Amino acid sequence: MDQSNIEEIVRQVLNSMGDGSVKTASGSNASAVPTSIPKTAHVAVLTALEHFDVKEYPIPPVGDGDILVKVEGCGVCGTDAHEFRKDPFNLIPVALGHEGTGTIVAMGKDVRKDSAGKDLKIGDKVVTCMIFHDNPDITMFDLNKQNVGGADVYGLLPDDDVHLNGWFSDYLFVRKGSTIFNVSDLDLDSRILIEPCAVLVHAVERAKSTGILRFNSRVAVQGCGPIGLICIAVLRTMGIQNIVAVDGNEQRLEFAKRMGAERSVNFMNYKGIDALAEAVSDAFDGHLADFAFQCTGNPHAHSNIYHFVRNGGGLCELGFFINGGDATINPHFDICSKELTMVGSWVYTLRDYATTFDFLKRAKAIGLPMSDLITDKYPLDQINEALKKNLSMTGLKIAVVNKD
Ligand SMILES: [Zn+2]
Repeated sequence: MDQSNIEEIVRQVLNSMGDGSVKTASGSNASAVPTSIPKTAHVAVLTALEHFDVKEYPIPPVGDGDILVKVEGCGVCGTDAHEFRKDPFNLIPVALGHEGTGTIVAMGKDVRKDSAGKDLKIGDKVVTCMIFHDNPDITMFDLNKQNVGGADVYGLLPDDDVHLNGWFSDYLFVRKGSTIFNVSDLDLDSRILIEPCAVLVHAVERAKSTGILRFNSRVAVQGCGPIGLICIAVLRTMGIQNIVAVDGNEQRLEFAKRMGAERSVNFMNYKGIDALAEAVSDAFDGHLADFAFQCTGNPHAHSNIYHFVRNGGGLCELGFFINGGDATINPHFDICSKELTMVGSWVYTLRDYATTFDFLKRAKAIGLPMSDLITDKYPLDQINEALKKNLSMTGLKIAVVNKD
């Protein structure tokens, strides 16, 4: 980067300070405004299977519609783990990390509002959602109808000449046409959890579309990894009390209770599906569930969950983010004669993303231990260890967090 680029960035920083936005910012944000922007950024690039290199790239000049974000932290997603092990999307070399958050340190003169219409200024804490290359002028209303599954996100982009494309880094270069949200009113842990929580906010929206899930429903949640645990939290913030958690790990079941499950069933204690279904029924005082959420990626778990649901009940399958193989069911007993209503759920819409901010505030307000979901934090230069920890399945949410 040459001298004129640096001058341009300095000019942008001074310009944005000149409109008074920084001076009027709340005290906590104002103190977080960095005084200088370095010439280079450090980006963790997956250069080979199971190997990241932290590379140094020049920070490009910030154009009129661009935003430069100083990264605070980023969660490790199951998708990152798949890329790390097998590169199923054929992206290597790739800058990963899509569950990230940070502080705006520079922005172009055309940037005034976030994707929800909230003011944006230097010093604000932000998260990104999907990028629409085809139509950067697409409206919020249109976005509501689209599922993020078909769009690009930072952290899963092919490498290009900008390079600052993923949140496992110290700076992210947010280009014109990206969605971005001002989440300055959420703490760092909450902001790191936005993306996985949006998956559950979406799943519960899908469940509500059946008309079966109500505030007083009996709800079974199978699988108490991060997805199942957050599912319980979302249900609790809706006022649903009667939740039974099903898992094979006692520690996770204890956590499920802290998240709001009334009772738990450890499937390791039961032999055969009939005994397990009876245990679930016992946990509901002799009733089967009105509704069940399937949050594991195990086909046997899919086959089992039909047995937990009453006649006329509902089911949401959200555990298979990737192809986990075929499951065996009995169409007569499991679906037809039971008159079961089933929905599938995958990823989220932009509207779910925005709804998730309020979910996180409510979860905190009613005392759910959301921050405890983040069990391990690693600095950027230990990203390989962070991914290995994720693969070891010994923690819950693993995060990469920068030092300052
Ligand atoms: Zn993710």
